[in-house]
Amino acid sequence: MDENIREAISDLKCYLEYLKGMGISSLPVSENVSERVVKSEIQTLTDVQKTLGDCKRCKLHRTRRTIVFGEGNEKATLMFVGEGPGYDEDVQGRPFVGKAGQLLTKIIESINLSREEVYIANIVKCRPPQNRNPETDEIQSCNPFLMDQIRVIRPRIICALGSFAAQTLLKTSTKISELRGKIFDIEGIKVIPTYHPAFLLRNPERKRDVWEDMKKIAEYLRNADRRGQSG
Ligand code: SF4
Repeated sequence: MDENIREAISDLKCYLEYLKGMGISSLPVSENVSERVVKSEIQTLTDVQKTLGDCKRCKLHRTRRTIVFGEGNEKATLMFVGEGPGYDEDVQGRPFVGKAGQLLTKIIESINLSREEVYIANIVKCRPPQNRNPETDEIQSCNPFLMDQIRVIRPRIICALGSFAAQTLLKTSTKISELRGKIFDIEGIKVIPTYHPAFLLRNPERKRDVWEDMKKIAEYLRNADRRGQSG
């Protein structure tokens, strides 16, 4: 046997002995494979949160204070998806708690729902430094967990708040001004994009558009209820 191969086998043997000594009885598999296996066991939001763990899958973990997982009703019929946590959210570990969050609460209440009845999450769960836009690799790293949350909750409709949420969920680069108010479908769940509340704070004249979109959402939910009752 070649001396190099003999040495490599000896090294591997030492490494395995070392792992055994540490109480590790099986070799670690790559993250993708292990996550795929775990995914099939995901039934609840707690399962998603456990899989996420103290996530360091993208560079945003270096500057965040807390992971903002999302909050609300696990059986919500309406889910909101925003872009990412800002300063207040990073401090409190909750989504949409700053000024834009207060406006979102009013938007939710405008269709006679409460924050507790809906579910609120973001495209990325850690705050981008200086509130910059999330980057493609960060969105890609975080998106599987959002998709798992959506699969667990299975809302009737998702309201995508702003460009990033809408473009990421719908896998498009079309502008939010063209997407808003239209009904799309992902994995059998309807998606209506509208403007982000932070955008509304800067452009209050757009509030009317959001009101129109919310009326559409309320109407869709009412019709879905009727279909559910008669079906
Ligand atoms: S943004 Fe998402 S993928 Fe990146 S570290 Fe935070 S939780 Fe993990």
